[in-house]
Amino acid sequence: MKNLNGRRAIDLSSKTRSVRLEDIGAQLEVRRHPGARRLTLRVSRTRRAVIVTLPLQCDLDEAGSFLNRHIDWVRARLDSLPNHVPFEDSAAMPLRGIPHIISFTGGTRSRLITIEKRGGQRPAILVPGDKSLAPNRLTRWLFEEAKRDLVACVESHTRPLSLQAKRIAVRDQTSRWGSCSTTGALSFSWRLILAPSFVLDYVAAHEVAHLIEMNHGPRFWALVKKICPEFESAKQWLQVLGPDLHRYGPAHGRSH
Ligand SMILES: [Zn+2]
Repeated sequence: MKNLNGRRAIDLSSKTRSVRLEDIGAQLEVRRHPGARRLTLRVSRTRRAVIVTLPLQCDLDEAGSFLNRHIDWVRARLDSLPNHVPFEDSAAMPLRGIPHIISFTGGTRSRLITIEKRGGQRPAILVPGDKSLAPNRLTRWLFEEAKRDLVACVESHTRPLSLQAKRIAVRDQTSRWGSCSTTGALSFSWRLILAPSFVLDYVAAHEVAHLIEMNHGPRFWALVKKICPEFESAKQWLQVLGPDLHRYGPAHGRSH
């Protein structure tokens, strides 16, 4: 066990490769990499995670003391990230690009999550039921909404091409907005439901185009343009505002 500034011990000697650094509000990931020549440390902006990469021969105790030596740098990097917005009562979050207010309405017979329009004000996402379970229920609902929109968009792009996606999955993936496997299975990040609909539609079109062109060559982009003529503005939106979508999520205590 190593001690982080004498406050919280992290066990890097166990098999656990991912632990939470509660006192700095981030996830720690330890990766062994055969090609790594030395210990490296980086902070992932999208996942709010501290990633330590070790050469194969390096032992985990060394990683712990390395992290301790650089903990001030880690804290400074985490502090410079935009604040995490946990799903909680009264928090603001975007849904299909439109700002909404989250409202945990408490015990009720209905378990249905609904949108309430509030003339002149931001619409509210009403989450009934036990308030302690509400953040996870809201997350599950957002996964379902994302899936519904993505299935509709994928189908609208595959039908004219007489194609069919093998499977459409919605995941909590942070490295890519969407992906297409060689077997024709598409997966997408649930956070696309937070973005404006034209952005979600572009990512669906992008992955559908991969069903024909498994690369990012000129023929691929010509196909994307054909099935989604406005793709450039969606691509730009993701480059500029995409990282912001990673601020929203169910977990508590991820920010200071
Ligand atoms: Zn691609």
